[in-house]
Amino acid sequence: MVLSKALKQHLIDPEICIRCYTCEQTCPIGAIEHDDNNVVVDVEKCNHCMDCISPCPTGSIDEWRVVETPYTLEQQYEWDELPEQQEIATAPNTSTSIEALDDDIAALLADAHSGAGGKTLAPASASKPSVNLYKPSGPATATVQGNYRLTEDSADSDVRHIILDLGQQNFPVLEGQSVGVLAPDASGDDDSTAMARLYSVSSPRDGERLGYNNLSLTVKREDKGLCSNYLCDLKKGDTVKLTGPYGSTFLMPNDANCHLLMICTGTGSAPFRAITMHRQRLHPDASGRMTLVFGARTPESLPYFGPLKKVPDSLLQKNLVYSRVEGADKRYVQDELRDMADDIAALLKQDSTCIYICGLRAMEDGVEQAFNDIATSAGLDWAEVRSAMRADGRYHVETY
Ligand SMILES: Cc1cc2nc3c(=O)[nH]c(=O)nc-3n(C[C@H](O)[C@H](O)[C@H](O)COP(=O)(O)OP(=O)(O)OC[C@H]3O[C@@H](n4cnc5c(N)ncnc54)[C@H](O)[C@@H]3O)c2cc1C
Ligand code: SF4
Ligand code: SF4
Repeated sequence: MVLSKALKQHLIDPEICIRCYTCEQTCPIGAIEHDDNNVVVDVEKCNHCMDCISPCPTGSIDEWRVVETPYTLEQQYEWDELPEQQEIATAPNTSTSIEALDDDIAALLADAHSGAGGKTLAPASASKPSVNLYKPSGPATATVQGNYRLTEDSADSDVRHIILDLGQQNFPVLEGQSVGVLAPDASGDDDSTAMARLYSVSSPRDGERLGYNNLSLTVKREDKGLCSNYLCDLKKGDTVKLTGPYGSTFLMPNDANCHLLMICTGTGSAPFRAITMHRQRLHPDASGRMTLVFGARTPESLPYFGPLKKVPDSLLQKNLVYSRVEGADKRYVQDELRDMADDIAALLKQDSTCIYICGLRAMEDGVEQAFNDIATSAGLDWAEVRSAMRADGRYHVETY
C-alpha cells in the first residue's frame, strides 16, 4: 500500500521479542500473527488501540515507524532486526487541503478521548464551553509573548511554556480545552499550512495573566515532529495560527466542593495547571480536595515543578513520581496510586469526586489496573464505579 500521506506503523522488535505471543492473545481485533520466525503486526488491521503494549514482558511490542509505504507482513516475517526510521517527506496526519484539516482535528480529538470508554459528559456544574469558533479556513492569529524552557538543560526532554496573546480577538477557553495549531509547510510562504495539531491550554479561563486575553501552552519538542518543533522554536513577537477552541467534556466542575483527582504524565500536566490555577484564583479555601499524581522520567524533566512547589498543599496534594532516577526503583503513576490506596478508595466512594487522566497513551492500562485493584480491595466493583462516574461526567481520559 502506498499512502497519500505518511502514517505511524506499529511494529515488533524481533531482536528483543521472546515469542511468548501474549500480544497476539491480547489484541482484540486479531492484528497480530506469527510464524516460526517472527511475530508481526498487520498494518491493515491495527487501529493503535494500545491494548497489547503493557502486557508485553519485553517492551519489544512498543515500536513505531513513520512510513509512506508500510512494511508488509512478508517483509516483517523475514526481519532479523527492525529497520531504522527513514527520513520521509511528509509528517503523519498531514492533510492536503485546508477543508480536510477540520476532519483531521476531529479525528485527533476523538482518538484522544477514546480511553474514557465511549462518549462522556462534562461535569454537571461545568461552564458551557465555546467550540470551533475558529476553523482552519479562518484561524485566529496569536502573537508569542514568551517561550521558555520548563525542563532543565540536563533533562532529555525539551518542554516549553509558550504564552500567546490573542489581542482583540474573542477566543474564550475553559480549563481542559485544547487549541489547534496550524504549522506552516516548508515553502516559506506564511499562508501555507502543512497540518494541524492539538495542544491543551495550560492557563485558566481568565488568562495566563489574570484579566489579559492571553493563554499558555505546554509543548514538548518531539524528535522530527513538525508542529512541536515549530512551536518550540517560536520567538517573542512571532505569530501563530490557532483554531478552536476544542473539547466539550474534559472540563472541570465549577462546584468547588468537588474533589478532583488528576493523574498525568509529561505534558498531560497542562490542563491540570489550568484547573489548579482556576481554583486557586477563585476558591483558594474550597472544601473540595485536589490531588495530583504526576509522573515523569526524572525531576529535571518534570514540567511545572517550580510553580507547582508554590501551590500550597492545602489546595493541591502533590504526588510526584519518577521512573528513571539513578539508583532508585522505577516508579510510575499507577505505583503511587496503589500506595495511596486508602485515600483513593475514599475518593471513589464519594459522588463529588471527578477523575482526570491526561498524557501518554501508554499510562492508561496501568492506571486502569490500579483503580481496579484499589476498588476491589475496598469492596467496590471498578467497572460499576467507572460507568457511574462516566454517566455523571466525572471520569475523563485524554491521552495522545
Ligand atoms: C487532545 C490533544 C491534546 C494534546 N496536548 C498536547 C500538549 O499539551 N502538549 C504537547 O506537547 N502535545 C500535546 N498533544 C500532542 C500534539 O498534538 C502532537 O501530536 C505532538 O506535538 C507531536 O506533533 P508533531 O507535529 O511535532 O509531530 P509529527 O510531525 O506529527 O510527528 C510525530 C512523530 O512522528 C515521527 N516523524 C514525523 N515526521 C517524520 C519524518 N519526516 N521522518 C521520520 N520520523 C518522523 C517523529 O518520531 C515524531 O515524533 C496533544 C494531542 C491531543 C490529541
Ligand atoms: S495496538 Fe491494538 S490493534 Fe494494534 S496490534 Fe496492539 S492490540 Fe492489536
Ligand atoms: S508480547 Fe512482546 S515479547 Fe511476547 S510475543 Fe508479543 S512482542 Fe514478543
